[in-house]
Amino acid sequence: MLQPELLQMRHEDGERSMIISVASGKGGTGKTLVATSLALSLKVDNKVQLLDCDVEEPNAHIFIKPDFNHKEQVFVPIPKVDETKCTYCGKCAEVCAYNAIAVMLKHILVFPELCHGCGACSYLCPESAISEEGKEIGIIETGNSGNIVSVRGKLNVGEAMAPPIIRNVKKHIDPEMSVIIDVPPGTSCPVIESIKGSDFCLLVTEPTPFGLNDLNLAVEVLKKLGIPYGVVINRTGLADEKVNDYCHSEGIPVLLTIPLDIKIANLYSKGIPLVEGIPEWQERFRELFNKIGELV
Ligand code: SF4
Ligand code: SF4
Repeated sequence: MLQPELLQMRHEDGERSMIISVASGKGGTGKTLVATSLALSLKVDNKVQLLDCDVEEPNAHIFIKPDFNHKEQVFVPIPKVDETKCTYCGKCAEVCAYNAIAVMLKHILVFPELCHGCGACSYLCPESAISEEGKEIGIIETGNSGNIVSVRGKLNVGEAMAPPIIRNVKKHIDPEMSVIIDVPPGTSCPVIESIKGSDFCLLVTEPTPFGLNDLNLAVEVLKKLGIPYGVVINRTGLADEKVNDYCHSEGIPVLLTIPLDIKIANLYSKGIPLVEGIPEWQERFRELFNKIGELV
């Protein structure tokens, strides 16, 4: 993660490079459409990084088409108990917040799928009976497409822990570039891990009761994180003004609206970026970027 002092340094230098997260309280709102369109509209005169932190289902590459040419594995440290040293005191099980280690009389069990690799058990074991061994939980891939550097994380099937993968994706952040982060949907830990350290968060929503409900939840998360945010309303024209009314009453800027349009839906279904299929959208996304710059 980019350190706060580094963020501050960038602002003092007056650079326009920003880290912009693109999130949504729920899936299917068009978050990736917005993230990729923003990245593609900036690449003309900027070096841009697009980080796909939606590690359970990364799909920004479908639109950006990078040549992924570098791959690295991500491991989490899982405890390994040396029972010749263990006194079965139970301290490791007591300290584990995830119930990933259990002590039953003269038996000790580790549940790797629950372990978050925090290291607390090995640190606190009085007998130094716990060592750690790496377990691969996913990969990070990097590649280029023109002026866009793409980084995507992929969580292995069956693994539950997205945050370590997301942290590793974010280690690739280059503060000299404009950085767009495609955040997983929802408001859980992976979302917070993805958004942390951003200069701004764009919340993509749709004008439906579900969209409003999930936008509300996402706004609460951003208030707690203290990160400035604004809204993009996708598929407008559904005759539901409640999202607009909510943003107005909360003083949340609506920075862009994208109409419900069969042409846009067709492009999306074919993996064609909006700004390439309908080039006038390029200017609208550049304006969106400039508006964000004024708000940061
Ligand atoms: S804390 Fe160490 S000694 Fe105690 S039960 Fe766990 S592994 Fe064994
Ligand atoms: S490393 Fe952390 S999460 Fe894993 S078993 Fe030890 S205390 Fe629990």
